[in-house]
Amino acid sequence: MTTANILIVEDEPAIQELLAFNVAQCGYRAIQAFDTQGAQNEINRALPDLILLDWMLPGTSGVEFARHLRADSRTREIPIIMLTARTEEHDKVLGLESGADDYITKPFSPRELMARIRAVLRRRAPQMTDETVAVEGIELSPTTHRVNANGVNIDLGPTEFRLLHFFMTHVERVYSRTQLLDQVWGDHVFVEERTVDVHIRRLRQALEASGLDHLIQTVRGSGYRFSKQ
Ligand code: CA
Repeated sequence: MTTANILIVEDEPAIQELLAFNVAQCGYRAIQAFDTQGAQNEINRALPDLILLDWMLPGTSGVEFARHLRADSRTREIPIIMLTARTEEHDKVLGLESGADDYITKPFSPRELMARIRAVLRRRAPQMTDETVAVEGIELSPTTHRVNANGVNIDLGPTEFRLLHFFMTHVERVYSRTQLLDQVWGDHVFVEERTVDVHIRRLRQALEASGLDHLIQTVRGSGYRFSKQ
């Protein structure tokens, strides 16, 4: 299964450690930042799969930072859960209007927070959950790492597996090579765009035996898409 990278932006060391501990306990990878500048540096390096964002931070607030992330096409779709000590209803509305997907009030129980993380990931980043996906005769199971296409078992390398999982959970949408590098590779500072073409070719070759390789389509001048048509 793909491990989701969770960026925790929290300036209070005790809460930061508590969050990182719980995130790791759930099998996710915790990336820690103590202010929005640190968070931005991490995001520039690799897109996280979800951000836990404290509202009250030194310098730029969590709400401002969420707005900034939503305004940038590269970071627009990263799920955000806002953490706050504020309990008033209008604060909650402001938090959600800034672009957060969910909102949790301190003090929170780790169980509740983890349930929210799972729910947001399932909704916003289905390739990060371990649920079996089935599209057009292909069935992919993240837990057993198996792919069956038209009754044929398909052997895939880890990158092709992640690529197919991403495509199957984002059907009919066109992704550029850069977007695929961001979404599937994550940390890709030293990865060239043509690497994407190499793995697409391998994925198609692996699917050939099932006759379903045509689902992986090249969109000239734009990138690739997984399409049923
Ligand atoms: Ca704080």
